[in-house]
Amino acid sequence: MDITLVQGDITEQRVDAVVNAANSSLMGGGGVDGAIHRAGGPEILRECRRLRDTSHPDGLPAGDAVATTAGRMPATWVIHTVGPVYSASEDRSSTLASCYRRSLEVAEELNAAVVAFPAVSAGVYGWPMDSAADIAVRSTLAFSPASSNTLSEVRFVLFSRDAYEAFARALEPTS
Ligand code: ADP
Repeated sequence: MDITLVQGDITEQRVDAVVNAANSSLMGGGGVDGAIHRAGGPEILRECRRLRDTSHPDGLPAGDAVATTAGRMPATWVIHTVGPVYSASEDRSSTLASCYRRSLEVAEELNAAVVAFPAVSAGVYGWPMDSAADIAVRSTLAFSPASSNTLSEVRFVLFSRDAYEAFARALEPTS
């Protein structure tokens, strides 16, 4: 499984699955969540509503992941994960690591080969970028596929130059 870095807009990626930094309600929001719903269109929200009506009446807990269609985006699926809000007084790293692990497990269940991640929790949720990058890279490297391994590439798609450089630094010791 290759880990690659791209600076750009995740909604434009030609990948099997795009991971969304969603919120627990699954009803959309700002940042990358808003961009994904705008680019994918109303079909995504329709499926999110269905999930709330059936399997997830209380919403999606932080650290978990669930898939919907990607609507009009080039990708096939959106994997919605809910990052933890950053706290200086409480270590929530294991929840952030769980976002990556659970998203990759869902990707595997979908037989996805290429999965794109944004920097989960590193926007409105306030996680410092260097730490967010470190957790993203380490939890992806630590992921061991459960069964048939269909995953060939995990692509981190970073919106800003600073985020891209933080992820490049996080990858350095292992490359
Ligand atoms: P969270 O609430 O989990 O912090 P945000 O959406 O606020 O999620 O931010 C997560 C990261 O996604 C931030 O680094 C933000 O700059 C980035 N981002 C926002 N829009 C896009 C996009 N279209 N493609 C890729 N990354 C994006």
